[in-house]
Amino acid sequence: MSLTVAVDIGGTHIRVAVYEPDSIKPISHERTRSLAREPGVYDRLEQAVEAVWPKEKVSAIGIASPGPLDPHTGTILATPNIPEWKNFPVAPKLAQHFGVPVHLDNDANMAGLAEWQYGAGKGHQNLVYLTISTGIGGGVISHGCLLQGFHGMGAELGHMIIDADGPLCGCGKRGHVESFCSGPAIARYVNEQLKAGQTSTLQMQPNLSALQIAEAARAGDALAISAFERAGHYLGVAVANYLAIFDPSIVIFGGGVSQVGELLFKPFEESLREYTFHPHYLDNLVITKAALGDDAGLLGALALARMKSE
Ligand SMILES: [Zn+2]
Repeated sequence: MSLTVAVDIGGTHIRVAVYEPDSIKPISHERTRSLAREPGVYDRLEQAVEAVWPKEKVSAIGIASPGPLDPHTGTILATPNIPEWKNFPVAPKLAQHFGVPVHLDNDANMAGLAEWQYGAGKGHQNLVYLTISTGIGGGVISHGCLLQGFHGMGAELGHMIIDADGPLCGCGKRGHVESFCSGPAIARYVNEQLKAGQTSTLQMQPNLSALQIAEAARAGDALAISAFERAGHYLGVAVANYLAIFDPSIVIFGGGVSQVGELLFKPFEESLREYTFHPHYLDNLVITKAALGDDAGLLGALALARMKSE
């Protein structure tokens, strides 16, 4: 029997877990602060893996990490969350240290893979996963394969352009889905409207959160309601595009912003129907929430390592 080690590198924590074959319940688990903006992230990662390294044989390590990264070489190209990692060969370094194969992919792809293998997307062969929080990440399963692309940079669904002259995105380009539908994008819109003189129960503030806006919307605040209507509208436009490209049987939403529910998804569904190229895409299409929560990245890394070891 050989075990699999899964790693999830997040902005605040590095999580490591060890799994027996055919189980998604870890036999041991380690969580350490990543202190991602300080030096020594790799050493903390290596120590966290050491802490749970079992006596039994390990077949592979899987890693979910923020990107952009190259899954073919196991290299982090650059990630805003971890400034010291530029063209950083994290997978080869761990492989050399632990003497087992190490597989790497970005956290959104891994969350999509996990939802497909173990979560809301079980049994589907064509799946689109979208996580909406501070940023927007995506993962695509096409005909039962994780879509990685030539450079391993496929399925960046949050950076699809829906208005070339639109607002600035977190990535520095304009008009991406993320620049309309992420938590900070919704908050920015509210702040802009307040600055322009719109009345609201909300106050202009740089740290305004999507959660606060959702509370105001539920209490009937017209500006807050319109902010989610706008985000839902653009989300519908985005998903209409994904349907035309990938023709999935299921679309899964993860991330904090998707927890607001009807405020976002009612306008989303109206917009999706309006903008979808042909109504047949919507026949038997499942639209649902992610099932795995915070464990999605870790379980995706597990699924990746298992897939590559087969
Ligand atoms: Zn972008």
